[in-house]
Amino acid sequence: MEVRIIKGANQIGGCITEITSSKGTKIIIDYGDNLDDKEQIIIPGLTKNDDLKPSYDGVIITHSHKDHIGCASLVKKDIPIYVNKEGMEIHNNLCYFTREYKKVLREKDNTIKYFEFEKSFFIKDIKITTFIADHSSYNSAMLLIEADDEKILHTGDYRNHGKKGCLFNKILNEIGKVDLLITEGTTIGSSKRNFKKEKDLTEDFQELNKYDQIYVMCSSTNIDRIVNLYKNFSKTHLFVMDMCMNSTASLLKKIPNSNTFSNVYTFVSPNQKKIDEPYGRYIKHTKKVIYELPFNEKFVVSIKQSMGDYLKDHKENIKNACLIYSMWDGYIRDDWPDSKLREFKNYLVNELHMNYFPIHTSGHASLEAIKTLDKLVNPSKVIIIHTEKSDEEAKIEKELFKDRLLEFTDGDIINLKGE
Ligand SMILES: [Zn+2]
Ligand SMILES: [Zn+2]
Repeated sequence: MEVRIIKGANQIGGCITEITSSKGTKIIIDYGDNLDDKEQIIIPGLTKNDDLKPSYDGVIITHSHKDHIGCASLVKKDIPIYVNKEGMEIHNNLCYFTREYKKVLREKDNTIKYFEFEKSFFIKDIKITTFIADHSSYNSAMLLIEADDEKILHTGDYRNHGKKGCLFNKILNEIGKVDLLITEGTTIGSSKRNFKKEKDLTEDFQELNKYDQIYVMCSSTNIDRIVNLYKNFSKTHLFVMDMCMNSTASLLKKIPNSNTFSNVYTFVSPNQKKIDEPYGRYIKHTKKVIYELPFNEKFVVSIKQSMGDYLKDHKENIKNACLIYSMWDGYIRDDWPDSKLREFKNYLVNELHMNYFPIHTSGHASLEAIKTLDKLVNPSKVIIIHTEKSDEEAKIEKELFKDRLLEFTDGDIINLKGE
């Protein structure tokens, strides 16, 4: 097989890998947006906007983060897209809330095929087996790609310190030795990053039970975190979700949401209620919607920037309150190009006097996880993508994989037989 990293050699967004078998079957793994989201990535013979004949036989999406699925709706209708059904629904739901309607994957515009975990399917002569990956996106996949008597493991995004981390060793043992490992390297150089186990966040949350009002900034698609918050706070506090989080959670079985859990509510601020899309649409399908926060009781609520005016108007009601920031800290760092989230967080802390607690664990692989992966699949060659590749990262990668590590830039073709 031949591998071409179209995007991802030295950036975290727009992760796109092309694999071609010796018989000429061509597949794409992930077709994501650049993280800055400005321009979607056009690929001749794949993207709808050209008149070229389709030059790919299939696209496989590892998970529903936008740096992996964001451009998928651009794929020509003749080329099937293989995706996990729940993952796709979560992506579509989020698109409605961010009003990126053209990114919604629809049966009428694309050919969509759903894959199941631990099952194989063929795209012509290429065999693909999907395995569940532990990541901060629901139902993420690792892919074993087999053709030409060669095996490639494409990890997608993964870690082993989350809820599904217990499956990590078992799955990798099942996969066994591979010829090529394509792994993410997002945090390979961040020894200071927090790789606490998801379940250990419980201790941090428990200390905050003393607050009457707990405001949480958390991704609406981080299902493990939502469950963790619910388990910790729902016995002592009313559990209130924003509309986007609730509509995501209600897509899945057994995840706390106001439609099926008697002690969960959905909060829509009066201003949000006036917005037809998406609020008008979703309110019709949402049970236990409240338009005021229950300031006389103890509550925990997930908040969005669009609730800023409401919180400002209720400044005098905000008492004994804390703010949990439970997302990647990069979004609120001074060097992040969009300052809105940072300003919102600062407003809550400085003007509304919420006590601030960053409580999070990374969605990405620690160096230890990468070492375990290496040991268990013992790859002959290694490609690291989904990395900014700082000098420090490049050094760590080289020390770890030595001459098995392939050097490349976006667009280079790598032949597994070394021809
Ligand atoms: Zn991801
Ligand atoms: Zn990613």
